[in-house]
Amino acid sequence: MTSGSAPDTAAQIAARQAQAELLEMLTFSPEDGRIWLHGKRMMMLDVSSFGALRDELMARLGPRGARSVLTRIGYASGISDADMIRQRWPTDFRNHAYIGSHLHRLEGITQIEPVRVNWDPDRGHFDAEYRWRHTIEDDVNIRSHGLGTEPACWMEAGYATGYVSRMCDQLILFREIECRSMGSQDCRVIAAPASAWDDIDEDLDHLGLPLPSRRGRARPDPRAAVEVSVPPAGDAPQLPAVQTGDRPIVGESAAVTAALHLLKRVAPTTATVLILGESGVGKELFARALHQLSRRARAPFIAVNCGAIPETLIEAELFGVERGAFTGASQSRPGRFERAVGGTLFLDEIATLSAVAQTRLLRVLQENEIERVGGTRVIPVDVRVVAATNTPLRRAVEDGRFREDLFFRLNVFPVELPPLRDRRDDIPLLVAHFLRRFNASHGKSVTRLTQRALQALLSFRYPGNVRQLEKIIERAVILADGDTADLAHILSSDESPDPSLLFLGLDGKLGPSRDGGRETGLAPHLDLDALAEALLERCEGGGTADLREVSAQLLALVAQKAVARSGGNVSAAARLLGLKRHQLEYRLSRS
Ligand code: ZN
Repeated sequence: MTSGSAPDTAAQIAARQAQAELLEMLTFSPEDGRIWLHGKRMMMLDVSSFGALRDELMARLGPRGARSVLTRIGYASGISDADMIRQRWPTDFRNHAYIGSHLHRLEGITQIEPVRVNWDPDRGHFDAEYRWRHTIEDDVNIRSHGLGTEPACWMEAGYATGYVSRMCDQLILFREIECRSMGSQDCRVIAAPASAWDDIDEDLDHLGLPLPSRRGRARPDPRAAVEVSVPPAGDAPQLPAVQTGDRPIVGESAAVTAALHLLKRVAPTTATVLILGESGVGKELFARALHQLSRRARAPFIAVNCGAIPETLIEAELFGVERGAFTGASQSRPGRFERAVGGTLFLDEIATLSAVAQTRLLRVLQENEIERVGGTRVIPVDVRVVAATNTPLRRAVEDGRFREDLFFRLNVFPVELPPLRDRRDDIPLLVAHFLRRFNASHGKSVTRLTQRALQALLSFRYPGNVRQLEKIIERAVILADGDTADLAHILSSDESPDPSLLFLGLDGKLGPSRDGGRETGLAPHLDLDALAEALLERCEGGGTADLREVSAQLLALVAQKAVARSGGNVSAAARLLGLKRHQLEYRLSRS
């Protein structure tokens, strides 16, 4: 029996027949308090009682134990229903196998919508995909526990596995790859023979079935939480001793240590410092550190983001303005230079300065004096200028957008700050630091990350650098219940403008990790080049990309490209790769 995604008229007729047959099989006997379904005694249980039972199981056995119990109950129920169908149609029961979905709907558990079903009883082949709508388990689970990171339709998956396995006389495993309890609109389920899945130990464990004798090497449970040692406030001996107020520079990687070393060298001098680095690497933080380490530490530190101030206002902002200099200048006021006297003026995004402002700045640096806009008085200023840029100034000079003499005046002592992807060693320290900060500011107590969440954090590319990590952790702290943040809490930064973060929005499709590719958290939904580069970088950096992981990553990459090349046609892509469709889909949805 093979049916496509759109039910044809024959299928609709069959469905109506099945419905009628099932209704005939159902008998209510209110006199003696019995309900029968083809001789099988049933009971009606209200959903809230089922919810209470499920909650009780969760509380007593934990999620894993509850999952096993409910999966087994579902499995037994599925086998029982299949036996009933086989009994009802002993010779052609396979032609009525589809009745299982009607049966389950009749029993009020869920509405099952086949997306595709390929069943060849003669060859014993079965693979399928279904959509489950308004499952009871999700209703009660979401009511009690809100949205989570794992599929929750355990009894349902057990039922489907039991029913179809009995019908096919072989173990057909159903896995929920999207679930309403994870934020999806509906649940999405893929079914295939046990032999077609990569790793079935956990499924078998939940079903209470014996594990096959073949045992792979023990793999750590990626969902097991790991402690991210959060140092208590004020006790951070491993951090470089540079405090910049409540925002210390956190890191002990070679790259950060080298940058700090340079800062310490130049701090006591009067040299102009140019800090280079991508957005979000912490240029202002390092500028503050430089100020703190300098002899000017007690004087003001004034920061100006030149790129955030309109070109027409930047001169007045930096150099001050005299009354009447232009319309609206009703009062004389000092600029940032005057306010920073004796201290440090940090000019971020220096490349955005207008030509006029560049000329004025050059003069201040040469003469140590300013003139306010619209004024004639020369005001001496003793200010150390620290400039920063995330675009190469030299190129701006070549393009004629930046004065060459100013460039040389600023470029006396350049300090390059590394992007976060070049200092991954610091990620656990940064995570611990941000957890502590955001726990305090949001009144939470998240002290742990699951293994897979930490691995994901370690493998992101971070185009937004430390600032991006900071946002991810803040979000995770807000989203997480209890003391542990999981993958889904990290992968949902969909509000971030960073385009490479788009893949982070696909948390609902990730589900539990079962293969190496997913354990890395390197979802192939991100930019493919970035994926390949991240992988290579990790290898080059002596990272942990073992071969199994690499092959999983490559397979995911190839799968995605194959689908793209096939114009989005998954079946065609599967043929192209010589895979079965469900194998490719599984790879696409889970890797
Ligand atoms: Zn579900």
